[in-house]
Amino acid sequence: AKWVYSFGAGAAEGSATMKNLLGGKGANLAEMSNLGLPVPPGFTITTEACTWYYDNGSTYPQELKEQVALALEAVGRETGRGFGDPDKPLLVSVRSGARVSMPGMMDTVLNLGLNDETVKALARASGDERFAYDSYRRFIQMYADVVMGLEHHVFEDVLEDYKDGNGHSLDTDITAEEWKSIITRYKAIVEEELERPFPQAPHEQLWGAIGAVFGSWNSARAITYRRLHEIPGDWGTAVNVQAMVFGNMGENSATGVAFTRNPSTGERALYGEFLVNAQGEDVVAGIRTPQDLTEAARLAAGSEAPSLEKLMPQAFGEFLGICERLEGHYRDMQDLEFTIERGKLWMLQTRSGKRTAKAALKIAVDMAAEGLITAEEAVMRVDPAALDQLLHPTIDPAAHRDVVGQGLPASPGAASGALVFSSEEAEEAKAAGRKVILARIETSPEDIHGMHAAEGILTTRGGMTSHAAVVARGMGKPCVSGAGMLRIDYRSGTMTVMGRTLQKGDIVTIDGSTGQILLGEVAMLQPELSGDFAALMEWADKVRRMKVRTNAETPNDARAARGFGAEGIGLCRTEHMFFEGERIVAVREMILSETEQGRRAALAKLLPMQRGDFVSLFEIMQGLPVTIRLLDPPLHEFLPHTDEEIAEVAEAMGVDPKRLRDRALMLQEFNPMLGHRGCRLLVSYPEIAEMQARAIFEAAVEAGRTTGAPVTPEIMVPLVGMKAELDLVRARIDAMAGEVAKESGTKIDYQVGTMIELPRAALRAAEIAESAEFFSFGTNDLTQTTFGISRDDAASFLGAYQQKGLIEQDPFVSLDREGVGELVQIAAERGRSSRPAIKLGICGEHGGDPASITFCEEVGLDYVSCSPFRVPIARLAAAQAAL
Ligand code: PEP
Ligand code: MG
Repeated sequence: AKWVYSFGAGAAEGSATMKNLLGGKGANLAEMSNLGLPVPPGFTITTEACTWYYDNGSTYPQELKEQVALALEAVGRETGRGFGDPDKPLLVSVRSGARVSMPGMMDTVLNLGLNDETVKALARASGDERFAYDSYRRFIQMYADVVMGLEHHVFEDVLEDYKDGNGHSLDTDITAEEWKSIITRYKAIVEEELERPFPQAPHEQLWGAIGAVFGSWNSARAITYRRLHEIPGDWGTAVNVQAMVFGNMGENSATGVAFTRNPSTGERALYGEFLVNAQGEDVVAGIRTPQDLTEAARLAAGSEAPSLEKLMPQAFGEFLGICERLEGHYRDMQDLEFTIERGKLWMLQTRSGKRTAKAALKIAVDMAAEGLITAEEAVMRVDPAALDQLLHPTIDPAAHRDVVGQGLPASPGAASGALVFSSEEAEEAKAAGRKVILARIETSPEDIHGMHAAEGILTTRGGMTSHAAVVARGMGKPCVSGAGMLRIDYRSGTMTVMGRTLQKGDIVTIDGSTGQILLGEVAMLQPELSGDFAALMEWADKVRRMKVRTNAETPNDARAARGFGAEGIGLCRTEHMFFEGERIVAVREMILSETEQGRRAALAKLLPMQRGDFVSLFEIMQGLPVTIRLLDPPLHEFLPHTDEEIAEVAEAMGVDPKRLRDRALMLQEFNPMLGHRGCRLLVSYPEIAEMQARAIFEAAVEAGRTTGAPVTPEIMVPLVGMKAELDLVRARIDAMAGEVAKESGTKIDYQVGTMIELPRAALRAAEIAESAEFFSFGTNDLTQTTFGISRDDAASFLGAYQQKGLIEQDPFVSLDREGVGELVQIAAERGRSSRPAIKLGICGEHGGDPASITFCEEVGLDYVSCSPFRVPIARLAAAQAAL
């Protein structure tokens, strides 16, 4: 079998298409060689050799030794050197290289092949003894560290002691003779610590390094990384062995890194840095300040140190040409490493460069405009989830972060403000012109005004679909939820976290994109939506099949969502319309009434408010579909808790507070999320459905007149498990439609449908579809009920599930394809079997999650619905799913 692939001298046995076999680095070195670029010759030992190694008790395939020897000879021929040759020694670098770049694996050994003899030859050839011995000691240090497992610091200690003892402050002060004695000390340390000498034979060195690369594939860090990123263990890593070139052979040598475009802004200009007379590790180590590559960058930075363009114009010119060539060849922004040895340019690496969301967007749109890629490719190049960064303020990556805690990234964006622990305080502070972060154990409908007033919301309990999370996302405000490590004490007005106690008024910052809680005010970058954004969205809209709607109740949210390109409302949670002010009192009256008459009285107060809200929504949506869900209040979110709240409702109802308290206690449930909510409430009290249906129909009539466009409301019944529930509610709706039509003299088109958010509904979808013109998958509740995991309590243990690798993702964030997904699929199929034209959508939080959107496309849903700020993400994700 072939285990070794050579490259160099304008040709290679491999190519860029062979990433699986040669690893990313090896495949690209081969590709650059094939393009005729100056690549130091070398060879790649395949990933298959690594798998073989592990399958055979850490041994090598028989043919490997010989193939490596032959490949080494070829490198020797090309460089005019020999491995271990005392006159013209061949020195090599050894690097790992998996299919994807992977932290935790052995990185690099440089200068391999140096020993007590060859170092002399290097000194002669370079005419620089100091350089030769410095290289040798670096090699011993690196090799002993990564191959022999001796920690770096033991050598650092020796070096520091030496410098202190001899009055040197810099490594560069050390002379060749001094390096020699340090090397003696280094070798002695290796023997003392490891009870074996530092290997002198180059072949022994090489096989040691190959074994270390293979061994690092199964290091603890690499295994953890693979688990987190779903990288299979049997991929294995390749080993790249390559002739050394020296960027540290004097003032006409240099080494550097470059991006073909700016990786943080996307600007089309070579971006990077280099060091004169240095080796790659020096650039990374940050001991010396690197210089700019181009004159333009140098001038922009106001730097004194000359650019490469000025310093080595010829090598620079060649490099620039190669950059353009590689970018054109790979049709993507490249991240490059190069070395200049005595004026001669060598390419050491190329790969697609990592970039910020902003840069990804700009580069994709620019490259499409340049004709380098198609518009569809541009659409595929931007990670939809990363768009969040463009839509919300983000913490300046350069800013210092004093992280004091961590919760769930419940609603993206970052915000700073003074800590407050109640919604009243939040409102007062806001009125006084101060910015606050509202910290609560959890939020409830009474906190809506506080949430509105706050810059951001922090809770210690509740998951990704908790009240705080859902409401904050709807408002487009940052939220960190379920930060269980924090302790909030309302009475003392303090919050303790990791031994620190914060007081009310202390300034904190929350990052809802990462879940971090930080101390103090942190510098932010403000979002700006560029023309590039609009261009990409337009291309995305051309290719996507699914519609994108929004979950919105308030005119503000609806307008924001329209601005982001929503094509209607997929979920209007009517209970959210009752959170504020006098409305919540009326809702409480209704819930707490012991008689139908009492309920009807409360409902009569709510009717005009509801109607008014719907009119605005219909007007904003201008004839686009609007799905209104009938009341679905988890009772615990609406019952009054405090004495004042009870007194307020009692007064409104004209009843005795004591009696009201008893009633509230009676209504309290053990499992409110599985309790008397959704259509169950409507079955008990159909007058609620009647009031809401009346409000919807009357609003439709009115908005139809004002906008001149007919409104077709879609009325949705929540938490249906049985067809009979839907039929009962539907009968009231249909009757009300007739009534309003008669009263207004206007015929109203409308649809009635249901949420599918219980396993039973998914299974009985065929019969339910007989009474439903549409299904909307409520995957928040469907996830909760399929797993039997409370959406409000999940945060306290799902973290452990993730840490221990039981689950990849929080199922409330990214749809569980196997379980919940199968129910969605079953319901879609069965629903269509009895009503082929049934409209299917999703309105759980998953409707804004790219991976879940891909699933929705596969199932053939007609639309996804998500919170306003997720609309652009959904548009892009839906487009990618369709391509
Ligand atoms: C759902 O359950 O997915 C849903 C959208 O409804 P809610 O989150 O309001 O329960
Ligand atoms: Mg639900």
